[in-house]
Amino acid sequence: MADEEAEGAERMEVSSELPPAPQRQASWWDQQIDFYTAFLHHLAQLVPEIYFAEMDPDLEKQEESVQLSIFTPLEWYLFGEDPDISLEKLKQSGAFQLCGKVFKSGETTYSCRDCAIDPTCVLCMDCFQNSVHKNHRYKMHTSTGGGFCDCGDTEAWKTGPFCINHEPGRAGTTKENSHCPLNEEVIAQARKIFPSVIRYIVEMTIWEEEKQLPQELQIREKNERYYCVLFNDEHHSYDHVIYSLQRALDCELAEAQLHTTAIDKEGRRAVRAGTYAACQEAKEDIKSHSENVSQHPLHVEVLHSEVMAHQKFALRLGSWMNKIMSYSSDFRQIFCQACLEEEPGSENPCLISRLMLWDAKLYKGARKILHELIFSSFFMEMEYKKLFAMEFVKYYKQLQKEYISDDHDRSISITALSVQMFTVPTLARHLIEERNVISVITETLLEVLPEYLDRNNKFNFQGYSQDKLGRVYAVICDLKYILISKPTVWTERLRIQFLEGFRSFLKILTCMQGMEEIRRQVGQHIEVDPDWEAAIAIQMQLKNILLMFQEWCACEEELLLVAYKECHKAVMRCSTSFTTGSKTVVQLCGHTLETKSYRVSEDLVSIHLPLSRTLAGLHVRLSRLGAVSRLHEFVPFDLQVEVLVEYPLRCLVLVAQVVAEMWRRNGLSLISQVFYYQDVKCREEMYDKDIIMLQIGASLMDPNKFLLLILQRYELADAFTKTISTKDQDLIKQYNTLIEEMLQVLIYVVGERYVPGVGNVTKEEVTMREIIHLLCIEPMPHSAIAKNLPENENNETGLENVINKVATFKKPGVSGHGVYELKDESLKDFNMYFYHYSKTQHSKAEHMQKKRRKQENKDEALPPPPPPEFCPAFSKVVNLLSCDIMMYILRTIFERAVDTDSNLWTEGMLQMAFHILALGLLEEKQQLQKAPEEEVTFDFYHKASRLGSSAMNAQNIQMLLEKLKGIPQLEGQKDMITWILQMFDTVKRLREKSCLIVASTSGLDSIKNDEITHDKEKAERKRKAEAARLHRQKIMAQMSALQKNFIETHKLMYDTTSEMPGKEDSVMEEESAPAVSDYCKIALGPKRGPTLTEKEVLTCILCQEEQEVKIENNAMVLAACVQKSTALTQHRGKSVELSGETLDPLFMDPDLACGTYTGSCGHVMHAVCWQKYFEAVQLSSQQRVHVDLFDLESGEYLCPLCKSLCNTVIPIIPLQPQKINSENAEALAQLLTLARWIQTVLARIEGYNMKHTKGENPVIPMLFDQGMGDSTLEFHSILSFGVQSLTKYSNSIKEMVILFATTVYRIGLKVPPDEMDPRVPMMTWSTCAFTVQAIENLLGDEGKPLFGALQNRQHNGLKALMQFAVAQRVTCSQVLIQKHLVRLLSVVLPNLRSEDTPCLLSIDLFHVLVGAVLAFPSLYWDDTVDLQPSSISSAYNQLYLFHLITMAHILQILLTVDTGLPLCQGEGDSEEARCASSFFVEISQYISGCAGHSAPGWYLWAALKNGITPYLRCAALFFHYVLGVTPPEELFTSSAEGEYSALCSYLSLPTNLFLLFQEYWDTVRPLLQRWCTDPALPNCLKPQSAVVRYPRKRNSLIELPDDYSCLLNQASHFRCPRSADDERKHPVLCLFCGAILCSQNICCQEIVNGEEIGACIFHALHCGAGVCIFLKIRECKVVLVEGKARGCAYPAPYLDEYGETDPGLKRGNPLHLSRERYRKLHLVWQQHCIIEEIARSQETNQILFAFNWQLL
Ligand SMILES: [Zn+2]
Ligand SMILES: [Zn+2]
Ligand SMILES: [Zn+2]
Ligand SMILES: [Zn+2]
Ligand SMILES: [Zn+2]
Ligand SMILES: [Zn+2]
Ligand SMILES: [Zn+2]
Repeated sequence: MADEEAEGAERMEVSSELPPAPQRQASWWDQQIDFYTAFLHHLAQLVPEIYFAEMDPDLEKQEESVQLSIFTPLEWYLFGEDPDISLEKLKQSGAFQLCGKVFKSGETTYSCRDCAIDPTCVLCMDCFQNSVHKNHRYKMHTSTGGGFCDCGDTEAWKTGPFCINHEPGRAGTTKENSHCPLNEEVIAQARKIFPSVIRYIVEMTIWEEEKQLPQELQIREKNERYYCVLFNDEHHSYDHVIYSLQRALDCELAEAQLHTTAIDKEGRRAVRAGTYAACQEAKEDIKSHSENVSQHPLHVEVLHSEVMAHQKFALRLGSWMNKIMSYSSDFRQIFCQACLEEEPGSENPCLISRLMLWDAKLYKGARKILHELIFSSFFMEMEYKKLFAMEFVKYYKQLQKEYISDDHDRSISITALSVQMFTVPTLARHLIEERNVISVITETLLEVLPEYLDRNNKFNFQGYSQDKLGRVYAVICDLKYILISKPTVWTERLRIQFLEGFRSFLKILTCMQGMEEIRRQVGQHIEVDPDWEAAIAIQMQLKNILLMFQEWCACEEELLLVAYKECHKAVMRCSTSFTTGSKTVVQLCGHTLETKSYRVSEDLVSIHLPLSRTLAGLHVRLSRLGAVSRLHEFVPFDLQVEVLVEYPLRCLVLVAQVVAEMWRRNGLSLISQVFYYQDVKCREEMYDKDIIMLQIGASLMDPNKFLLLILQRYELADAFTKTISTKDQDLIKQYNTLIEEMLQVLIYVVGERYVPGVGNVTKEEVTMREIIHLLCIEPMPHSAIAKNLPENENNETGLENVINKVATFKKPGVSGHGVYELKDESLKDFNMYFYHYSKTQHSKAEHMQKKRRKQENKDEALPPPPPPEFCPAFSKVVNLLSCDIMMYILRTIFERAVDTDSNLWTEGMLQMAFHILALGLLEEKQQLQKAPEEEVTFDFYHKASRLGSSAMNAQNIQMLLEKLKGIPQLEGQKDMITWILQMFDTVKRLREKSCLIVASTSGLDSIKNDEITHDKEKAERKRKAEAARLHRQKIMAQMSALQKNFIETHKLMYDTTSEMPGKEDSVMEEESAPAVSDYCKIALGPKRGPTLTEKEVLTCILCQEEQEVKIENNAMVLAACVQKSTALTQHRGKSVELSGETLDPLFMDPDLACGTYTGSCGHVMHAVCWQKYFEAVQLSSQQRVHVDLFDLESGEYLCPLCKSLCNTVIPIIPLQPQKINSENAEALAQLLTLARWIQTVLARIEGYNMKHTKGENPVIPMLFDQGMGDSTLEFHSILSFGVQSLTKYSNSIKEMVILFATTVYRIGLKVPPDEMDPRVPMMTWSTCAFTVQAIENLLGDEGKPLFGALQNRQHNGLKALMQFAVAQRVTCSQVLIQKHLVRLLSVVLPNLRSEDTPCLLSIDLFHVLVGAVLAFPSLYWDDTVDLQPSSISSAYNQLYLFHLITMAHILQILLTVDTGLPLCQGEGDSEEARCASSFFVEISQYISGCAGHSAPGWYLWAALKNGITPYLRCAALFFHYVLGVTPPEELFTSSAEGEYSALCSYLSLPTNLFLLFQEYWDTVRPLLQRWCTDPALPNCLKPQSAVVRYPRKRNSLIELPDDYSCLLNQASHFRCPRSADDERKHPVLCLFCGAILCSQNICCQEIVNGEEIGACIFHALHCGAGVCIFLKIRECKVVLVEGKARGCAYPAPYLDEYGETDPGLKRGNPLHLSRERYRKLHLVWQQHCIIEEIARSQETNQILFAFNWQLL
């Protein structure tokens, strides 16, 4: 302690003697009177020096000197002590309340649907992960940049406004000390410094002089150095700029690229330095070159070097200010005050406003820093945020106008800050009250939109610029932000200002009311489709704003009434043309209507009526408040309902006429508009409101007059009054469509009451009804339902609150998505004429519901559900139903339907008429049930029962219905008619009930009668249903018979083997020798069971001809694909040789790092047919223009049947039957011991060696232990145990064998094809071994039994592959095979060693086994005769080879046993355990310190048994497919129980494996010794070496987190390893190894063989031998890639709670890992199906687009 103090004192002394530069500077400033002048003086001296080298700056040095000479002195001056110490202190005391992190483009943001005030309230990743919202219904989004984190803003969140890190009072910091950590002196200093700093920043940023600096900064002698500076714009593409620069500056491409990238990022860059004249010249050059390539010249300026330097430093100073302010709230406040201070006596706005106003003139880099400055100062302090907002609104109009004429993105405009202020509820209210912000925004709109006004002062967007109008939307958006939270408390001032804003808003609507009028085109088609998108887009933008205005108005009754008055006035002003002009009179049934003569089909009409619709909205809200009665106080004159109804009615008529094809000459634009008019995006403020307006009309007008008006406007009055006799079918069709449309609208007017205020319903009920009707069409996924529901201003549909009341969720399987199914009890609410159904939805729903009723054996009537009651203000609407004109219309329709001559009716029309009837009867029934009969004035029943006229044949509606029932063509309507007639009865009885008690008996009778007829009908229906069912059954039976036939023929073609493996043969055998079945099931040695062979007749998929597979026949082949694979690797990421030119593949590494897998789709062709097919493909592809799906050069093609990607064919060669005479075998067993067998083999090899060498170097280099040879054994003795002649294959088969073997060689080693290469047979064995291992591994992974569980294609492929491998030997030079064999045998034969025999631990022994077994017959080869071992010889050869190699493997396992693992106490002291111990004692003699030394015997035995099983399983598969011997039953079941002993029995092994060593002890001892004393062994066993242990670990795709946001979190921390910039990256996760890569970015591209490839493709080369699975993290998409140019997308294994994926995170719901789907992806990999998936997806998407996979 004391020492330290002394030391400190010493340092102090030194420093006081020689104060460092910063302090000196600080104290100098202290002495100056005017800090600003002194500060400028300092900068004037230093800045031009530091920022001198603009063209090629040394950034590190620059930064260092700025720190040292400017910032550190400033900080000293500010704190009066070492700034590091002060800042440290501040850091500890001052946790800030707000996070305020500014988002970069592409960053993930989170919002909470449960807690956020509105969807613009977002959290950054860190805050979110530490907040309560993590467990709420959050949404993920990708930021477009520019926003900031709202963590800590209590106004933004209903609950949980703080994350753990921003919680006030966290970690011992109390509120007090975090608020006042600064002492007075520092504050005083800050007040002195900050104003100067901000003033300098502002002055320099907005400095406009190109050639010189402000006076105060001109203290140096002026130099003659200028820069030519190029600015970013949005007109010119990257390539344009590069081109212009290259031309103008005469520079290299690389330099031009460098400039362009910098310009794009920063917004400006000096591209040339020099004298003024030189720069001016460069400027003109660039301008003219850029003008050549595009219309606009590039923006170039010439700036003096010192101006440039100061501007650059000003921004750097801004970042410094940011840093300082982050330490203290006081700093921020002082800074804000300085910014807001107005110069006394100056006209200039305050500093911050000057910056704001300059924003549009600034370049990107400068804007970014200035916005950040605002974020970190004003936006962190609520009080100052308010003041800033006030300034912002003050200049709002000007800022928006400048933004609109600017060409920069919105995200980097100052106007984008509006959302940060306007959505804060208190701020919004304040701005309305103090700055009248609503009016400011609407007036801004009124000022920017007039360029679109036509001479009637209506908008007309013909020929608009999309970009420019897009910028206007930003202003509309601001209106939405300001209205987003409805005030809870209304002050007088708020009311006044709001109403003023509303009035101003009505002015905009006035310009829209009736805009873009159209007239029906007759005769000629219009020439060009007019632009319609702009108007509709504005309508969409306005939808929620209109709704919000209505909601705000509805906050108070008075307010609403005033708003209503204003709106009504506005509508009237726009309707003047209606009240003038000529009139016409309509008459019907004694009712008369005089109205303006107007025809939609002839006069102008517009679809845009926002004023009328707003009025309708206000009216509904009045009704909801129950204030309609007070309307007359505010609208003193008559409401003039007819005028109000007129325009919406015209719009509906227009829709009807479009449907009737009357407007088809007006082109597509009208059709699109009509579509959007009714679409969910617009309908709430278009179509729905028009229907409401008609309902208002119907409630206030005389019903007959109302209907006359409708008839008149639909131009249908004539159609109902006169008999139209025309043969013009088109005209009739047109009339019928119009009538249908009109009836539909009438149904809606009377029946649609699901709007709060129109009917007595709640919002939830409305949403529920929408959902019910969607689900009546079909079960739907969540996203589809959401898409079909209107969103409110918070983008919510209210779906989740109600869906579970009406529907049940059905989970998805491993593919597809989850869907909601309607609950049965909700079906009763189905209304066939639901007004939001499109035509197709309507008919689909009708069809579905009828079908369902039929299935349930119910009648097919679909009457309307009883509607909810109208609100009082709308109660009169029902009178429409029972009025005279309605009766007339209905009766006319029924009469026409009954009349055989009339064609002015349709079944659809009839259905609608029934629906109206049903509505009327339901209404009356409901009223009668509620009130006594005499009070119910609604009298539908009597009106409908009355005769329409006094004519002789007059009939009432009931009679007409009875008649209709009898018409056979109307069979489909019968149930509905019956329903209506019963309803008539019901109502009649209700009417009579009260007064006619006496009639009860007759009433009962009629009920009974009813029931009887009803029962009868029911029985009849049942009979019909039964008949129909039988008919269906018959058809189904026929169908399935056909299908079965199909399957059977095709089974013969493709699946011959596996399902019925030689049925007859095996059955026969079992019958003849049931007792020896056990004996048969042994594959190796003298007791080997018989080969099961069956006659195989296969059908070629190309020519459909059958052929038996025989070795002498022409070859048949299997389509196959050979690929390299790392699926089994034990060392993921181990560098794979890209080319195998020098590779020796005879021995496989034990880590199986990279193998060659052969798979097949199982489809069979004639070799000849395949060759023809392949040639044809080659020919046709030469004419193809598209990117090829497959690489013909390397033999790729698609399987003609299943379109799998293939690159070769495997010949199908039948198994050669072999049978062993058991007596011979027994005899031989005595003679041929292992020792003897080894001697024979060695003698044979030695013999060859002598024969071939003849003085030269031996062909087979080998080392014999002398004295081993038995003199009785010589060269030929191997033949004496039995030989047979060589199998003769047809030439065609041999040819195919060579072809396939060459392909395996070529692909496995990545070398050019060469059928003579000595490595061809090695690769054959290698792919056999590896394919077997891969399949064994897969079976184990899936928990399937070893036999009987393979897919047919796997089974057939494996079988063909093994038989091919057996045959392959004969196509090669036998000397070559012998040479390979000797090298293989040298591993396991004592006394035989070649020079390169590898260490036992560095090879995979299963590969050795396969090679040795397949190569062994070559030892029987002789110059003169072609011989091969007889069955019995083979049996012994294979047995001994297997035993020797198995012993070697046992040693491998025991040497590498992992003793570090805790194993629970084993079975104690068993026989095996004792053997294990003693075996270990034995080998310990040879090798010291081997791992298992200390382990107990039982442990070793358990480890051995466990470790050897995969090898035994592989061997069993291998021998089975080579020999065709039936395996024991136990291997057909998936239980591990008994598997081990069954394997041992099948492979002729003792279950106690150590007995092998005991049996052959003398032979094996020297071998053991040799293996153990291998000099390479200790190296392999070193603890740090990654030795492979057994069983090998099974590979799986990496663990993924359950919650997707964790991955996003990881991605956000991802930094590109190659570049340090903060540009947006595309992190991609390798699912094999977990590496995160920087995808699709130049920084991480690699060059391989002269080609540029992306980071992912490069990674895949090593990680998956070219094949890989990646997850694009930001997009939540999986991609599969193969090679350099192929890939496809695959659904990601993440699902939201509704069982749907979300590619691109468009919906943003929380996502969780679906284990099943991830497992499926895992299997795609392990089954080696990635290539297949890619090929299939490319086949389907080939024309759409070609993604450049190479650069992934
Ligand atoms: Zn945050
Ligand atoms: Zn936070
Ligand atoms: Zn929440
Ligand atoms: Zn064929
Ligand atoms: Zn196929
Ligand atoms: Zn990887
Ligand atoms: Zn990168």
